[in-house]
Amino acid sequence: MSNRPELPPEIARRRTFAIISHPDAGKTTLTEKFLLYGGAIQMAGQVRAKGEARRTRSDFMKMEQDRGISVSASAMSFDFDGHRFNLVDTPGHSDFSEDTYRTLTAVDAAIMVIDGAKGVESQTRKLFEVCRLRDLPILTFCNKMDRESRDTFEIIDEIQENLAIDVVPASWPIGVGREFVGCYDMLNDRLELMDRADRNRVAESVKIDGLDDPKLADHVPEHLLGKFREEIEMARELLPEFDRQSFLEGHLTPIWFGSAINSFGVRELMTGISEYGPAPQPQNSASREIAPEEKSVSGFVFKVQANMDPKHRDRVAFLRMASGHFQRGMKLTHVRTKKPMAVSNPVLFLAADRELAEEAWAGDIIGIPNHGQLRIGDALTEGEPLRFTGIPSFAPELLQSVRATDPMKAKHLEKALMQFAEEGAAKVFKPAIGSGFIVGVVGALQFEVLASRIELEYGIPVRFEGSQFTSARWVQGAKDKVDIFANANKGHMAYDHDGDLVYLTRLQWDIDRIERDHPDLKLTATKEMM
Ligand code: GDP
Repeated sequence: MSNRPELPPEIARRRTFAIISHPDAGKTTLTEKFLLYGGAIQMAGQVRAKGEARRTRSDFMKMEQDRGISVSASAMSFDFDGHRFNLVDTPGHSDFSEDTYRTLTAVDAAIMVIDGAKGVESQTRKLFEVCRLRDLPILTFCNKMDRESRDTFEIIDEIQENLAIDVVPASWPIGVGREFVGCYDMLNDRLELMDRADRNRVAESVKIDGLDDPKLADHVPEHLLGKFREEIEMARELLPEFDRQSFLEGHLTPIWFGSAINSFGVRELMTGISEYGPAPQPQNSASREIAPEEKSVSGFVFKVQANMDPKHRDRVAFLRMASGHFQRGMKLTHVRTKKPMAVSNPVLFLAADRELAEEAWAGDIIGIPNHGQLRIGDALTEGEPLRFTGIPSFAPELLQSVRATDPMKAKHLEKALMQFAEEGAAKVFKPAIGSGFIVGVVGALQFEVLASRIELEYGIPVRFEGSQFTSARWVQGAKDKVDIFANANKGHMAYDHDGDLVYLTRLQWDIDRIERDHPDLKLTATKEMM
């Protein structure tokens, strides 16, 4: 990330990131406050209030309400402090790891939210590992400090030990639970005082001159002062100093303490993102690295969402801009089909509303309504046949067969399934012999989500049933060898929605045997999407 040429200001001011957390840690609340400070909404609470009206449009899933999980990821853009923030929402439930993984290929940084009373939880750890695979810089927000929480050193230790990353306090909490008064801004020598009376008020900020400043006593209750001074001294002695390079390389995370619901600490966190970055990063492709400052426009699809608006049966492909300056109406090349594509009605997601994107720069996320041409992994460029790498498609871990309760609807069901497959919501396999379909997912809950979506969006009641198979592997190798193998194992063969050959089985033993007996074939659990 060093030694890069200076970026044009429009690109340099962009911040594209995701929030990762365990359910309930406060991701939604924090997002709301981001939008509030970003001027995207007038009052916190509107994301949810609007959500009610929006539900018919994008939050079509009743399950989303029932289970309190967010199934559909979306992207939101807003301005803060001269910067353009692009926040890409990650689905929070562990059953959606594949979707989440792909979302994280589209961002340059992540904010990890943890609950001050609970510390690092299972889902946080998993998501963190995905960030680490990509060396994403991580900013940490320790939330719910207005409640009884753990000792500050203990929290920091837990993150360091559990996640093997250096932690540098950007702020330090003063008092806990009911006695929590605010934080000391370690980087700017300031007191930030929480206003408990008004949850939407920005904290009062008091500049002080070191720990001996008599002003401290005006704001911090006397019985907390001694412990506070002692802790800051210990923290300075024991913990590393903030080092931007180390942060950008993903070795160090700055931590802010706050309370999202009280709007406390949020602005400081946002300032941290503005100041420390990172700006849009280069993206990898099979042929070369794409730098954000390149003049030529390019981008890749990391998510496809169907039926965001039931009135128009459209799909929206979310495109991460990798380079250039896009203007509405531009004719780009759809690399997979080599066809030109006029992008005339791209959408920017400003808070809860869609708005036409007149222009976009490297780092931005735009939504492109389309009728199914755009798939996950697709590239749009000004002609260069780029193939962006690193957007994987995982072998599903659970397989079930599916059929329409009304046999007359079988054809319709096929269409619905293909659409979900292209969206990346599930794997759909058509067995080489026999009828029907086998659907593969990464988490069990997805079967329910699918059943409910197929019924809601296509009016087809379906039934999922146990399949005789439990694993799927893509088969790769020379065509003649693959054909011989497929012919000899017809009962196990199926095709995915791209027409690629898949071997289905219920025994790991089968997979091992094939790998041993057919050294010229490769059975893979992931397939790079394109
Ligand atoms: P998510 O599941 O991570 O999106 O979490 P939410 O933002 O929905 O928050 C989960 C619960 O924690 C909700 O009841 C919030 O009102 C509550 N919450 C969020 N932030 C805070 C905070 O700073 N303090 C307290 N006491 N509760 C909070």
